[in-house]
Amino acid sequence: MTRFIFITGGVVSSLGKGLCSASLGALLQARGYTVRLRKLDPYLNVDPGTMSPYQHGEVYVTDDGAETDLDLGHYERFTGVASRFTDSVTTGRIYSNVIAKERRGDYLGGTVQVIPHVTDAIKEFIQADISGEDFILCEIGGTVGDIESLPFLEAIRQLGNELGADRALFMHLTLVPYIAAAGELKTKPTQHSVKELLGLGIQPDILMCRIDRPLPASDRRKIALFCNVREAAVIPAMDVDTIYHVPLSYHEQGLDEQVLHHFKLPTEKAMDLTRWEAIVERVRKPEGQVTIAIVGKYVQLKDAYKSLSEALEHGGIANNVHVKLDWIDSEIFEREDVVQHLEHVHGILVPGGFGERGAEGKIKAAQFARERKVPYFGICFGMQMAVIEAARNIAGLKGASTTEFGETPHPVVGLMTEWVRGNEVQRRTNTSDKGGTMRLGAYPCVLTPGSRVQQIYGAPSIQERHRHRYEVNINYKDRLEKTGLRFSGMSPDGVLPEMVEYPDHPWFIGVQFHPELKSKPFAPHPLFTSFIEAAVTQSRLV
Ligand code: GLN
Repeated sequence: MTRFIFITGGVVSSLGKGLCSASLGALLQARGYTVRLRKLDPYLNVDPGTMSPYQHGEVYVTDDGAETDLDLGHYERFTGVASRFTDSVTTGRIYSNVIAKERRGDYLGGTVQVIPHVTDAIKEFIQADISGEDFILCEIGGTVGDIESLPFLEAIRQLGNELGADRALFMHLTLVPYIAAAGELKTKPTQHSVKELLGLGIQPDILMCRIDRPLPASDRRKIALFCNVREAAVIPAMDVDTIYHVPLSYHEQGLDEQVLHHFKLPTEKAMDLTRWEAIVERVRKPEGQVTIAIVGKYVQLKDAYKSLSEALEHGGIANNVHVKLDWIDSEIFEREDVVQHLEHVHGILVPGGFGERGAEGKIKAAQFARERKVPYFGICFGMQMAVIEAARNIAGLKGASTTEFGETPHPVVGLMTEWVRGNEVQRRTNTSDKGGTMRLGAYPCVLTPGSRVQQIYGAPSIQERHRHRYEVNINYKDRLEKTGLRFSGMSPDGVLPEMVEYPDHPWFIGVQFHPELKSKPFAPHPLFTSFIEAAVTQSRLV
């Protein structure tokens, strides 16, 4: 029997609902249950793929090619369960499906309305593509009280009724702020937020209270009384020093026990949290530190590179070091010398990116890494910039660039107009729609025997997730390889360059895909483990 847990948020945004959901998923797993996590986002974009990272943060890509919310990254990292297209939906997608149905005439002359047609579509999404998991955790994006989330809240209210308390649980995340002037914690915002939810017909079963200090018993009692929740189900969610401590801290506060109690499931069975204890131990007690420069465009907003910073931390966990991140806006290198900014770092990472702004700075960073023999990791755009650098500065191809920036005499990176996905040929032109039309999701890549990447992966071929429109131009392969840049990973048909490396450099690897999306704290990605290992070696040199 599959049970559903609905997670809503109140008072303010950014309380960490995604992490809270992911942590509960991990705890239920530790209790021996299977879980799946889903996210319902109230905005009108069909998916976050067309949104600026400044608006939305990172776009997380699944194996099956869905562009989703970054919370799905937390879910995967905490549970190890690969997310699917069917785990993420937005108001935009729901409405476009409903409207398409209306145009087909599927509603047989009926008036199409939010209730029941939109809410039915939401309920269908929540209950679709379930393969016998014990728990489906459904996070509702936004904050209770927003106009946009009303249809979602109405849909989960209906579902809660239909499924009954034995199969549905409502969990609400709120804030208990400390008001310094009064020297007091305030429970009123939580009371108001629950009132708002009650007004929509939803009585929360569990309250998670974000708080920066211990919650006194009297406040807990007060919240329970005013919000009509059992005292034991008012769970303080205190700030912690590392996100990997969140599952442990929620467990100590009784979250998983309360969930099982609600569903009348046994709570006595032993559970195994050693995996999380070991990770926290490593994060808290590293044996050294390395500094990695991330040279990108959206560095002011750390959420834009969420999976990346997590994957680097995982690489640190694997090598028992703390990874300090130096966020550098690549545009700086157009005004200032790279040396003063990069001299002290032990590794340089140029992440994924779009557009010409800041690109020259990234190319300079790649040049610095190549010439100074500093470990370099180029991801997607970062690989393309390294290829342009080699073309211009070693192969002597003046003006070499990517067609993403316009006309160039040497398009060493160009628009992908045709490629194969499964048994299907995908075709694109400059005028294709922008939404959902990149090369998306997992594709296979064959590794050159004897190459560094092949040693790192320890496998002849791999699958990694993609999200890009441009690719390294195979017609320049010979000229580029003469610079010493080896094409060490290719699509199985040998047409799309997937990985490049300099064999005579301590560690210089560019990848066309996004390995950071598959890294987990308990299974760090081999490329990140190896990159941080190279940075540790570098730290002993400088
Ligand atoms: N803008 C580049 C492309 O579309 C790189 C994309 C990325 O880094 N994800 O190919």
